[in-house]
Formats: sequence, structure tokens, C-alpha cells
Amino acid sequence: MKNSCILPEIVAPAGNLEKLKFAVLYGADSVYFGGSEHNLRAQADNFSIDDINEGVCYCHDHDAKAIFLLNSFLHEKDISAAKRYINGVRAIPFDAVMISDPAMMTLIREAGMTCSVHLSTQMSTLNHLAVRFWHNAGISRIVLAREATIDDIRMIQENTDAELEVFVHGALCIAYSGRCLLSRHITGRDANQGDCAQDCRWRYSLVEESRPGEPLDIIEGRAGTEILSSKDLCLIERIGQYIDAGVRAFKIEGRMKSVYYAANTTRIYRDAVRTAGTAEFEKRLPFYREELDLVSHRPYTDNLFNEFNGKGFSSINYINKAMFLGYRASSDPRGVPMFKTFNPIYRGETVEAIFPINDSIRDGRFTVKDIIDAENNSVEMARPNAIYTIRFDPEMGDHAILRRRR
Ligand code: SF4
Repeated sequence: MKNSCILPEIVAPAGNLEKLKFAVLYGADSVYFGGSEHNLRAQADNFSIDDINEGVCYCHDHDAKAIFLLNSFLHEKDISAAKRYINGVRAIPFDAVMISDPAMMTLIREAGMTCSVHLSTQMSTLNHLAVRFWHNAGISRIVLAREATIDDIRMIQENTDAELEVFVHGALCIAYSGRCLLSRHITGRDANQGDCAQDCRWRYSLVEESRPGEPLDIIEGRAGTEILSSKDLCLIERIGQYIDAGVRAFKIEGRMKSVYYAANTTRIYRDAVRTAGTAEFEKRLPFYREELDLVSHRPYTDNLFNEFNGKGFSSINYINKAMFLGYRASSDPRGVPMFKTFNPIYRGETVEAIFPINDSIRDGRFTVKDIIDAENNSVEMARPNAIYTIRFDPEMGDHAILRRRR
């Protein structure tokens, strides 16, 4: 594979403003996020209009693109509300809007929005004729169905001019392109309106009709039986193949995950895209693998749909090998770093810190020398969800994210 000068984009998840900023700082070329309506993550900490404006400005100040999600499907009753919502955001200078329902295309053009339009993976685009159809309809980038094979991607790329984006990392769905009625059937929460209850991740047992209340265990593993739950996608080892096939953008799933997840997955795929096809990639692959193992995930697969082997749905316990402790937020008036905490940090302990990968990998281990709370008291422990001034040895650099291995 040749390492081309125009590298494919890394499109990172931004579940809130904090995640957006860290994804950008850690190397995202684009971030995707949704507002309070019409995106397929009703449970996410979605952006207010002020957040959207701040997020778009932050992206543009850091040479990143802002992709706004308007990818829900509209019933007739939803059209007026969608028009109102689009009118409220139409003046914001998004770089692109992501849609699923063609009706959204009509509404955003009627509202006078001129930004690029991307098509969501929800539309199950798998072949060049479908890509051409959407491209002729004014869509510049197609996020292919997760079920698209490498051969499909190659054929599509050879026969169309549209930009192709694929999911490279994150949760997969047992339903075809995420179009699923399981959640609506069991809980009344509609996955196709962004309100999935993730029923496929629940634990199931077998009940004989005449013996209700006497469930029979189906033994899949120590954690229980989750026969419908898929492994997570991880294409780090195959990234060069996907670049060669013509992929122009790699999307990371996970708007509901942590700042640490958004930052670490982004920097690893950003660096892997840079080194793909070179000896450096092979040298760094163990580091890439280890870092992706240190973000929360289910067991990984790189071939769930491409080369189904019948084993893709077993052993789905969540793996959490590192605890996200906090990040460097700013400095106090004396220039000592201040940290926002997500889990306790103890004086005297040694923690790990990760940083954006620029010319080098600067990650390291740092010992907590002192913790000062908001009342200027020196304390033994920093509690979660607060801001503390913390002195480390050696001194902590900018943009640090702290973790503790379990
Ligand atoms: S219930 Fe599971 S399979 Fe269905 S949409 Fe939700 S995550 Fe996907």
C-alpha cells in the first residue's frame, strides 16, 4: 500500500462539548454530534444551540470539521417540528449535515442550508449503483453499510466519485444496519428514532411454557447468556486494506462513551492512518492494540460481517482494563495544572497519562505529589466530578488524560 499525501479523515464521536474538544485535540479531522432533536442517540448528552455554536467555532479554530446529525427518520407528524428545528440551526456554519431520511435533504435545502450532506449508514448502501443514486441526488459522502465487504468498497470506489466513509471502531448491532424493532417490541423505545434500550445486550434464559418463573439457564459464560449481543468492531489491523480500497473517512462509534474513549481511539486511528503501509505501522501495531484494549469495549472482531465465521456473537462481557480518572482542564494562577476528575485520585499514587500523538508518543507514569481542593486545602484524595489543583512528578503536560490500570 502506498502512503498517500491526502490521508483519510478520522471522524470522531462527540457526545458533548467536552468530548468534542478532546477528540479535536487528540487528532480528529471531523467530529459528529447531534442537537436536542432528530439524531439517532436520544439518550446522549446532546448539544444545546449554544453548545452547537461553541462546538462549531472550536472545530474551525482547530482546523477540524463539524458534522451535524439530522439522521432520524420522520413520520408525517414529525415534519413540522423538523422544519422548525432546522430553521433554528440553519445559520450555523456546519461543514456537513448527516441524514438518513431523504425528506431531511428536502427540508435542509428548503431552509437554505448549503453545506455538504452526508448519508448515514442507516440507509444500508452496499453497491455503486446506490452510491451513484445518492451522489446524483446531491450527497457528497456516503457512510457505507457496516455489512459492506472490502470487495464491495473497492468496486464502489472504482465506479463512483462519491467520498466513501466506513465505521472503523466501536459497537456493532445485531440488526441489519441498525434497523431493528427489538427495543420497540420489548420496551416501547424505538431504535429507529434514536431511543434504543439495547435489549440485545440483556441476559436471556429459557422458560418452558408450563413452568413460568423457573428459567432454565443457557450457559454461555460466567457473566450470563447474551446470545443476541454482538462483539465490537476494531479494524486497526486492516486499516491499510481499507485505505487501498478507497475509503476516504473512518468513523469511530461511541458518542455515549467517555472523554478518554473519544480521545484515545481518535489518536490511535489518526496515527495508524498516518503510518499505514509503512514499517512504522508494524512497529507501532502492538502499541495501537494495547491502547485500544485499554478503552472500554466488548471483545473485538474485524470480520463480523465480512467473513462471518459463526462465532461473532459469543463471549460478550464488557472489558474495562483502565479507569478514566480525569483530564487536565487548565492551570491555576500560579501555573500549576488543574484537573477535572471523574474517579478518585489519591496523593502518593502513580497514575498513567496519555497525550495527543504528534511527532512522538509522550505517554508516561506520574506520581501525585499534592492535591489542593477549591478551598485551597491540601487533601489526601481528589473526589470525582470536581476540579482540583494537582502537582505531579514529573510535571504534567497540556491536554493530559489520566488513567489507572485495573
Ligand atoms: S436492540 Fe440491539 S440490535 Fe436492536 S438496535 Fe438496539 S443495539 Fe441494535
